Amino acid sequence: MIEVKPAHTEAPASRDGNIATDKAAQKGRSLYDNVVKQFNKAADLMRLDPNIQSILEKTANEIIVHFPVKMDDGRIEMFTGYRVQHNNALGPFKGGLRFHPSVDIDEVRALATWMTWKTALAGVPFGGAKGGIQIDPSNYSIEELERITRRFTFALGNNIGPEYDIPAPDVNTNAQIMAWILDTYLSTMPPHERFRSTHVVTGKPVKSGGSLGREKATGQGVVYMIQEWAKDHAFNLKGAKYLVQGFGNVGSWVARLMKPLGAKLIAVEDITGAITNAGGIDPDDLAEHVKRAGGVNGYRKGSQIDHETFLRMDADIFIPAAMESQITAHTAPLLRVGLVAEAANGPTDPEGDEILQARRIEVLPDILSNSGGVIVSYFEWLQNKRSEFWDIEEVDSKLRKKIVGTYERVRAAVRDLGTDWRTAAYVVALSHLERVYKERGIFP
Ligand code: NAD
Repeated sequence: MIEVKPAHTEAPASRDGNIATDKAAQKGRSLYDNVVKQFNKAADLMRLDPNIQSILEKTANEIIVHFPVKMDDGRIEMFTGYRVQHNNALGPFKGGLRFHPSVDIDEVRALATWMTWKTALAGVPFGGAKGGIQIDPSNYSIEELERITRRFTFALGNNIGPEYDIPAPDVNTNAQIMAWILDTYLSTMPPHERFRSTHVVTGKPVKSGGSLGREKATGQGVVYMIQEWAKDHAFNLKGAKYLVQGFGNVGSWVARLMKPLGAKLIAVEDITGAITNAGGIDPDDLAEHVKRAGGVNGYRKGSQIDHETFLRMDADIFIPAAMESQITAHTAPLLRVGLVAEAANGPTDPEGDEILQARRIEVLPDILSNSGGVIVSYFEWLQNKRSEFWDIEEVDSKLRKKIVGTYERVRAAVRDLGTDWRTAAYVVALSHLERVYKERGIFP
């Protein structure tokens, strides 16, 4: 266990087991249970050392902060924020911050653990963490969101840091929010340390120390993975039909980067509804509409469909790029695709996974296919530390090399172990962590 560093003044940075259990019980099924199921499957297959298994099945630190923020009308509202740090055997904790009503300790714990597997698999020198605030950001003005973000950063205090725990964008957070976190964090530092600390967050605006290519990086990585899969299956992406669920940062970038490959986007779903056009939807045009309208609903060059019709669309590839647990025992039987390329974290639950396997629908698992984001976050972190600024060609080619290398390692594990891609990816990640623990031993 790693000690939680004290926060500045918002003292209740606590490890909270009770809230976790209560919330999970209220929701019925815990997301963290899904993580443990996937983990145990791989651990059993590879015969992971039971001592190391017991370390990895627990999170290191769970920080919950409650903090007040002044609203535009003068009221004070209390907010709850989370940061879960799962493991830092390989380097500083790393993972996104999410603003969403579903954020709770169980969700954040699951997402933090997936980050540990993802960074270990990608071979970047980070551990795993995740955090967020339980809010619907559409209920707040920009000014309120800025104050909420800044006060949350202040409440986290030294629980984040450029060499300790480095947040990044996730659902409903973006480069602007990272800029506010950066500015708040730097403002609390002694003046001579400020400019040694810009790598406290990644996914910053480029002018504030961000990396070229970070905004599209997760989508870019997904597309590189789909291209590798297509090569292996002698599958022509030109004219291939695909569906995207979620048209935010990741989903819209996947679609925009699939366009030059000649693939045809035939349906899109987001929180506002679902649309289809059998002749193909132009992702750039749809992105413009979403910017104006706030969602895909009302897009005039497509017709509205319901959730089930969207899932039943006949296509080659389904790209979930929204929330977790979308492909389940109920929805997996509906899919009529050959490949699921997981851009979201945890979009397929264990029952959904079994059905996809039984139906011989291939899955490129989240910890592999969406790792482009954390890989380019690592590049941003390196550029900040070295006071360098890489051009987009350098970022893209390094990303491609790194993620394709990982794909090849997972493909080899699939063949050697005769298992599915998710389990193989876990085995590669867990072998890396197991080796490091064995080399170093356990203190004292
Ligand atoms: P975002 O906030 O930019 O977009 C989220 C999208 O999902 C929006 O279009 C929203 O309308 C849609 N959505 C939300 N709930 C939905 C629902 N119930 N049904 C259908 N659509 C729904 O978020 P993002 O950054 O694009 O993240 C999307 C997913 O990708 C998340 O699982 C996130 O953890 C994962 N991810 C993001 C990054 C990153 O770099 N941003 C990196 C790795 C993984």
